[in-house]
Amino acid sequence: MENRIEKIKKQLHSQSYKLTPQREATVRVLLEHEEDHLSAEDVYLLVKEKSPEIGLATVYRTLELLSELKVVDKINFGDGVSRYDLRKEGAEHFHHHLVCVECGSVKEIEEDLLGDVEKLIESQWEFKVKDHRLTFHGICKDCQSKQQDDK
Ligand SMILES: [Zn+2]
Ligand SMILES: [Zn+2]
Repeated sequence: MENRIEKIKKQLHSQSYKLTPQREATVRVLLEHEEDHLSAEDVYLLVKEKSPEIGLATVYRTLELLSELKVVDKINFGDGVSRYDLRKEGAEHFHHHLVCVECGSVKEIEEDLLGDVEKLIESQWEFKVKDHRLTFHGICKDCQSKQQDDK
């Protein structure tokens, strides 16, 4: 945890930003809930538990800054809510997601999978790919076995 905070601090410094106590409180919540895909409101409520003096606007601005600096990725799973997802350590690309349409669970795929597709896009459309995001919508393993049981 402290290690990751230290790295994020350096990442901010390298772009001339400081890890203020407000920003640090937000980063800590994101680290503690790394798998959770929190919305700005979710992050705010968790930050407030420990630091009641921090307002929603501050949390919101911090999340925007962190996403500009690629510490977090902003993602939308099609429900109209922006969620914030910490980028995995050393990841060049945003990780991919499997979203279950039955129970809403979200699994993460860390393998890139798209190296060949990027090469094709770069050669065929002369488009320099910087990043991509991929969300699969489907039915998770648990829901599939529940559906089996219902039959
Ligand atoms: Zn994720
Ligand atoms: Zn499911």
